[in-house]
Amino acid sequence: MNMSLPTSIKSLIVNQSIFRQKVVKDFAAVVGSELALRPIQLLKEFIVIKFLGPADYGILKSIELVQMLNKYGTLGFKAAAAREIGDAFGKKDQKRTTLVRNTAYSSEIILALVLFVAGITSSLFFESRSISILIILASAGLLVTKLSGILYTEAGIQKRFFLISKVTFITSLLASIIVIVAVPFFKIYAVVLMNFVTSVMAIIYYLKSLKHNYSFMIDGKEFKRILSISVPLMFVTLSQGAFKYAERILVISLLGKVALGFYVFGFMMVNQFVTLFKAAIKVRTQDIYEAIGREDFQYVHRIVFKETLLLVCGGVILIPIMWFSIQMLVPVFLPQWSEGIYAAQLSLLVLPFQVMPNYSAVVIESSLVNQQKKLPVSYAISAATLISCAYLLRWFDRLSLENFILGNLVASAYFSLSLVFYYKKYFYNNFVRENKTTGFRECIVCGNTHYCKYKYDYHLGFSGPEKARQFANLLAPYFDSLIPKSAGKLKRFTGNVFKGNVLVCSSCGYGTLDRQIRERELIDYYDQYWHFRDVETKISNPNDFLEEPRAIYQLQFVRELLGNRGLSNVLEIGAGRALTLQLLRAKNFPEINLFVCEPGPEWSEYYAERKIQRGAKFFPFKSDLKFEYIHTSHWLEHALDLEETIVVLRDLLSPGGMLFVEVPNTEHDYWQLHEVDHPHIHFFTQSAIQKVFKRFFFRCLKIGEYGITMRERNQGVQITEANFGPRPKGFWIRALFQKQSDK
Ligand SMILES: [Zn+2]
Repeated sequence: MNMSLPTSIKSLIVNQSIFRQKVVKDFAAVVGSELALRPIQLLKEFIVIKFLGPADYGILKSIELVQMLNKYGTLGFKAAAAREIGDAFGKKDQKRTTLVRNTAYSSEIILALVLFVAGITSSLFFESRSISILIILASAGLLVTKLSGILYTEAGIQKRFFLISKVTFITSLLASIIVIVAVPFFKIYAVVLMNFVTSVMAIIYYLKSLKHNYSFMIDGKEFKRILSISVPLMFVTLSQGAFKYAERILVISLLGKVALGFYVFGFMMVNQFVTLFKAAIKVRTQDIYEAIGREDFQYVHRIVFKETLLLVCGGVILIPIMWFSIQMLVPVFLPQWSEGIYAAQLSLLVLPFQVMPNYSAVVIESSLVNQQKKLPVSYAISAATLISCAYLLRWFDRLSLENFILGNLVASAYFSLSLVFYYKKYFYNNFVRENKTTGFRECIVCGNTHYCKYKYDYHLGFSGPEKARQFANLLAPYFDSLIPKSAGKLKRFTGNVFKGNVLVCSSCGYGTLDRQIRERELIDYYDQYWHFRDVETKISNPNDFLEEPRAIYQLQFVRELLGNRGLSNVLEIGAGRALTLQLLRAKNFPEINLFVCEPGPEWSEYYAERKIQRGAKFFPFKSDLKFEYIHTSHWLEHALDLEETIVVLRDLLSPGGMLFVEVPNTEHDYWQLHEVDHPHIHFFTQSAIQKVFKRFFFRCLKIGEYGITMRERNQGVQITEANFGPRPKGFWIRALFQKQSDK
């Protein structure tokens, strides 16, 4: 039998295998060229060290401060271009692609020219002519390196990875050969010139094989937009640069260029191993991101913990081996470096700290944990530590290269440990550790006797900038007694009404505060701390409810099930603006009477204007008038006594009346993530809310999860009009119940 596949499927299969081949080829090219270059680059490094000697090597490393600007003298244009052009590409927006490309690349060219001119100008300030010439050469090298960087970015955007590795390989190989051959004759000039030559070769190679339609142009609006994206992206790089610059400038200014030669010599050896160790992490990064994606946090933690331990142990074992190798080999092969042996040996101690934070950093920067803004802080503090160490040593007249290296050790240790700390705090504590205790108490929803205990303190706090909030949350409780009661807005967070634990039923997921709150306390709490809630009660647009997305989606949810029953009286509790009811009246039931239960006196005028009657100020209340429909949105979780509340709601409904409930959904990630929300007394899952209403003879007509997820909320995703609709694991539960006969 001959079964032929439709051509479209066939072509798909072919494409896929081509795609897979391409990925494998790219990967092999990238890793292969890196590995193949390693021996020759080591040889090059050896030759440079041997022929320059500590003094010239020190000069070379200070001249490198100029070349380092290629990485650290950045405004992030290339990174932003890679991200933005990729995005515009995906949307097939040709015009925007061109606009972003032209503006980003042109800005980068201007930046390169500015740095070049700055370098040339600075060369005028040096008395030594040879230093001036070296700075000019290095500045020219910086300029062409930055220009070739643009082409490199473009090649990456066009996914020409094979081309990139080819160019990298050939230019690096040629450069190494040039240096190896020329250094014995031209010394330091050969090395500095080599950078220039390499980049020029790369530029020529890229221009020959890369199609592009770039033209010099800067669009002011686009420039501003790119800057707003690129500045946060470059922050990490810049703060990292601050450390590297502090390191070198301190050594050269306090200890001199020969010391810098010895200093960099030691760390160059360490770096050979760090590069090797980091390659292991590169391979693992994707694994970690994938495991985070499928929420296998235990697996992520196992990788991070085991492999970090392995690499750190590897580093520790290498220290004595390298210590003795340096002792034995340096006097034989590099006799002029013998003075630096001890410094080089000491810098080996940094090795474990260099490999320790890398896995943690991957997790900290993942979209789940999303705390990459912590990295610049750590870099800045460790740079400050290094600077203080250096000046303290100088103050006590103990400054030597060896002691400075120990200062570096302290700063590196701080940096590594701070990242491990962030990993523990933001990932391990929230997603890996069983962050709960268990016990017995009967669940009022399902009668189960086992519960988990979670801290509610995660969800209390100040709103405002993240940093200020964390700081304030940490300190506020200690100052509670000092804050007068009249300072309500502040007191709201220092007061202890809602502090403590929440007991969450391990069967249905219903949670309630461990500490029983008394009615008086609750009234005082709202009275004192929330009465000034900045609610806009004077709305100039009388049709505002037509555009309110929550009202629109809530009405959509109930509309069909309300059918065409003769609604006459409807009630909203905790109403505020009562937008959904107004929408219901405007769209479907023009004749109905709207009632609200709302304590705020400031609403009187608003209700009068909108023909809304205030049925009661406080819940619970009794009424002879019964309602066919009761609407509650983000209200039930604040009720003092859940069972009593449901009994009263039942009593207010006419036979067969309907009840709409919208509450926060605490089933997914809620107890793991720190997210400030209003003080709640009850915590619901879909199962819990269904069960508790069933106990009081309500039939659930419809229930579901809506809005964005808790995790997105935690990552700062803004709720827009588009995401008030259904969404698996959404942060809100919406449900519609119908009162049944209790017989
Ligand atoms: Zn339960």
